[in-house]
Amino acid sequence: MSDFARPYLDKPSLLLMRRTAEVLDLPHTVCRRRSCRRANRCRWSFRETGMPCCRANLTPSRRWGFDAIVDLAARMRDNGGRSEAMTYASRHADERLLENLAVLVGWQALAGWQRRLYRRFLKLRAKAPPPDLPGFDPTRPPPPA
Ligand SMILES: [Zn+2]
Repeated sequence: MSDFARPYLDKPSLLLMRRTAEVLDLPHTVCRRRSCRRANRCRWSFRETGMPCCRANLTPSRRWGFDAIVDLAARMRDNGGRSEAMTYASRHADERLLENLAVLVGWQALAGWQRRLYRRFLKLRAKAPPPDLPGFDPTRPPPPA
């Protein structure tokens, strides 16, 4: 039995994973499937987990970044803009970079009324000052070496 299955289970978190793969250009940079490259998107997933196959080709540290972006995008989708504290605009420069990528992923994954809510979140987030500290949020577990 093959590890690959089509079509995707279209659950919201899997959609975020696929959009993350696209924002990071995985179909062109790490995917070994011609159909992904041609479609410009990740078209294959593992049957058991639903994870995009492109993710399996990442090195551990890159997978750490991938998962951090998916996690942030899910939190932004669920909580973004609910309060002043939920702007996901870190004072740490590297954390802010992850957050900016997650914003892109979230935008790609939402449509309709969700996108209208998300736009309100983005307006709130745009008012945040630029990051003034280096590195990642100290509460985030460090990437693997
Ligand atoms: Zn792929």
